[in-house]
Amino acid sequence: MIATLRWFIFQEYDISLTTKNLASCPVCRNTGIPLHLEKMTNDYTFFCNHCGTEIFLTDVFRLHEAIDEELGAGGILGYLMTTLEQIILVHFIRLILKIKPALLEEILFVKDGPLAFFEQTANMHSPMRSLVNFLFKYHNFYLNLLT
Ligand SMILES: [Zn+2]
Repeated sequence: MIATLRWFIFQEYDISLTTKNLASCPVCRNTGIPLHLEKMTNDYTFFCNHCGTEIFLTDVFRLHEAIDEELGAGGILGYLMTTLEQIILVHFIRLILKIKPALLEEILFVKDGPLAFFEQTANMHSPMRSLVNFLFKYHNFYLNLLT
């Protein structure tokens, strides 16, 4: 799924982005850290241009910003669960586009819960909107929201 995250973040399904800005470095906390795709390692990592620390592609979810010194990582569990569910949907879409794009017209995706990205992961709405717009434009993709 890390390859799917790369595909999703850098919009490789369409006009591939060369750079994505990371909201903040997990170590030095500087903001707007550029993640250059051509500098990504084989392990899907980058290096902070301020402190040189290793940055994981998954740091785009900004979960490190919600980890509290006193409460630990318990505060991110809800964000993590929701984000994983949404990335799994993206993963299926990527695989279908790769194997047989025409199948998208025959598959109904059902997700229990909101499709929105909240708080820490709210910045994922932009790549998700780009992906959905791409699917609308080129693949007769329909989005039906049941409430
Ligand atoms: Zn840094």
